[in-house]
Amino acid sequence: MKLSTFFVIPALFWASNGQNLNQLFNLVPTPGGGSCNSAQSTALGNWLTDTLTLVNAAVADMGTFDVNDVNATPRLTKNLMSWFKVRVTKSGAMNAGDAGKITTITNTFEALSDFLAGRNTLLTGKKKPWLFCDGDWQVETDLLYDETGKATQDLSVNPPVQANMRTYAAPPNAPADLAPMLDLMRQGWPANPSYYAYWSSDVHDYMLVPSAKRHTGNPRSICNAPTGQIYFAFTIDSMLLDTVTICSDSFTALSEPFETIQQSMTAPAAANIGTYLNNVSPRGLTLLHELIHLTLGTDETKTGDSGTKPTECLGLTGAKAVKNPDSYAFFAWSLYLEAHGANNRKWHTGLSQA
Ligand SMILES: [Zn+2]
Repeated sequence: MKLSTFFVIPALFWASNGQNLNQLFNLVPTPGGGSCNSAQSTALGNWLTDTLTLVNAAVADMGTFDVNDVNATPRLTKNLMSWFKVRVTKSGAMNAGDAGKITTITNTFEALSDFLAGRNTLLTGKKKPWLFCDGDWQVETDLLYDETGKATQDLSVNPPVQANMRTYAAPPNAPADLAPMLDLMRQGWPANPSYYAYWSSDVHDYMLVPSAKRHTGNPRSICNAPTGQIYFAFTIDSMLLDTVTICSDSFTALSEPFETIQQSMTAPAAANIGTYLNNVSPRGLTLLHELIHLTLGTDETKTGDSGTKPTECLGLTGAKAVKNPDSYAFFAWSLYLEAHGANNRKWHTGLSQA
């Protein structure tokens, strides 16, 4: 092989398939709060590559679906039937009532594809979102900062101090969204505040959280879960810029067993019969999941989480499945694994079969 050929292929791959993390997201330089360490950055780069692979494959496959001849694409049809409860007729056509599902599925993968190609039209302000590792990009505070990140001074005291949101009387020329926020922060204060505010010096915006959902730990973090639970990742689209937070457990086997698609596919269990799909899944599915929330919006009517394990996803009705990010993640992974995995195993039932 000529050396020039060897080097040209990766360059073409990058150019034709999408972007790198820095092009798609704002990232905090290390060691800032919410920055990714070098192992996490490497993992995220792998996840992005894997997400591109799965999304590109799903978009290509969906483009081959013929509603009048579902038997022409048996691998795709079986996966659509399993994961999204698409029904087919005896004569080999799609049940006409499921056309909306096919449209939603196609649109979802195309939205992902658009985002991965740097087309962010669906994001808040059409701006580049932030990607954070762990929750310390947010700090619980009662102090007020403005949209430029500057401390707001309370001029009613002498000498002026930084305004406290629990007590500050906003001047008449304050931004329109300030008064409602201060109203919430005053509720129940000081005995039982109804809300707590988390400030991001990167986004220059607050997230208000009801007291029942106040972050826990020291320092308090959105990634700290109550005992018996694990938080893997969050997408927030209610701030000035959209954000994706990957919590540290997502980078471990608590999430998925394998780092990459390549490791998943070469695992002995992937060649066997009776392996649970979750046990050969790559951790990049977490990124794919969050990118669905990010591109389509976190509103439950659009992307409501109703199942996370393959068995839970397979048990959802079609109406719930087409909104459930992990249904897409496992659909794309199962579809890919059936096309490229060892021994031509079938995975759409959630267990590998001959
Ligand atoms: Zn989710």
